[in-house]
Amino acid sequence: MVQTYITEDFREAVKQVLDNALKGKETANFEFPLFTNEGEHVMVLLNSSTRRNAAGEITGVLGVGQDITELVGHRNNLELKVDQRTLKLKQASQYSRSLIEASLDPLVTISAEGIITDVNEGSIEVTGVAREKLIGTDFSNYFTEPDLALAGYQEAFEKGSVRNYPLTIRHKNGQLTDVLYNASVYRDTDGNILGVFAAARDITQLVSSRKKLELRTRELYEALKKEKDLNELKSRFVSTASHEFRTPLSAINFAAGSIKKYWSKMKPIMVAKKLDKIENQVLHMTELLDDILLVGQAESGKMRNHPLTLNLGNFICEIIEEVYHSSKKAQKIVLVDTESLKSTDIYIDEKLGRNIFTNLISNAVKFSPNEHQVTVELSSEKEHTIISVTDFGIGIPKSELEKIFMPFIRGKNVDLIQGTGLGLSIVKEAVNLIGGELFVNSTEGKGTTFIVKIPKKQL
Ligand code: ADP
Repeated sequence: MVQTYITEDFREAVKQVLDNALKGKETANFEFPLFTNEGEHVMVLLNSSTRRNAAGEITGVLGVGQDITELVGHRNNLELKVDQRTLKLKQASQYSRSLIEASLDPLVTISAEGIITDVNEGSIEVTGVAREKLIGTDFSNYFTEPDLALAGYQEAFEKGSVRNYPLTIRHKNGQLTDVLYNASVYRDTDGNILGVFAAARDITQLVSSRKKLELRTRELYEALKKEKDLNELKSRFVSTASHEFRTPLSAINFAAGSIKKYWSKMKPIMVAKKLDKIENQVLHMTELLDDILLVGQAESGKMRNHPLTLNLGNFICEIIEEVYHSSKKAQKIVLVDTESLKSTDIYIDEKLGRNIFTNLISNAVKFSPNEHQVTVELSSEKEHTIISVTDFGIGIPKSELEKIFMPFIRGKNVDLIQGTGLGLSIVKEAVNLIGGELFVNSTEGKGTTFIVKIPKKQL
């Protein structure tokens, strides 16, 4: 006969169930193992209930045991499977986590509301913000152009993904990282979009090399342009210089030829006149050569700036005198000094300074009628001493105002007034070299003012 027994460790519990029922406390579905004397293991489901008589007094206990061995077997099997599944899922999630962390690129998951739900180490590094602080915040906060970042996110949301979207991430210490942003939506098992998975590729180095390349290209382009300008200048020089030299040379030739031919018949005064003419033309050619040499120096960067402290009054008065005496005109050149600056000093390279103001003042004289005075005015600003030269002469046509600073360019209204078109280009180079500024105001037929701002000495 098959006998069953309850093992030691369950005996007390089963007894308790039955005792409780005797006291009126029933137990449902108490599971315990039974062993048969043949060593078989049976699982029992015990339900205990209290028996009472009509008066409601407890008369006994009804215990119903049900063999659930097979059921429990199924259940255990199921539990084991669930446990194995859970373990696998856990392993898979750990695996994808390490995959995400293995990427140096910043990776984030963003909810449908644009809130960061998870980040990897790369995101922490690039923003300088801790994981807990990143999660739960608006992802667009971390870009220099949040609107652009939002638009990229929106695009991923609408199209399912976005590729190589250029953005810039700002680290909390201000450092910027240029990235290409790639994002795809992720969904639940029913296909509803849960959010966006985004990866950013750092392209800062690429961008910086591109910028360097662009800079280099621009430098090369500018060097090429300079070379081209220089070439144009040279050809303009050849045509102008040959013309400019030819005119005085034929005048000299003509004067010398007349003297030679009519020597015996000429009155001394006539000979003297012709000799004066020759002298003048030689002088003009010398000036022309000097100017050409200066322009050449300026163009090849050979003009040097060695500033000295000079008395402003002496400096400008000497130049005015010289221009006055070398001009054939008896024109008044008036110095206006309302701020009493004559006794102050300026800090300027004497040679460059002379070049600037000799040219400007002699132009003012040259391009205005005899009876109209020329004024040279001194004034001062916080960081500059200003010298302006004003005349009431022919003026410069508006359309030519920019060009007149180029070598060999002369105004269309100069008529027979002599010149080479080199003076102003020398002035411009010299003003640049002394670190000053040059302005011109002019109205054709009314007059012209050139303003030169000379930097004060920085102590
Ligand atoms: P140049 O005096 O030998 O012609 P510049 O280079 O000094 O050459 O001047 C270039 C041109 O600018 C002049 O030919 C003239 O057309 C114009 N210009 C310069 N200064 C004046 C001025 N004060 N009034 C009118 N035109 C001027």
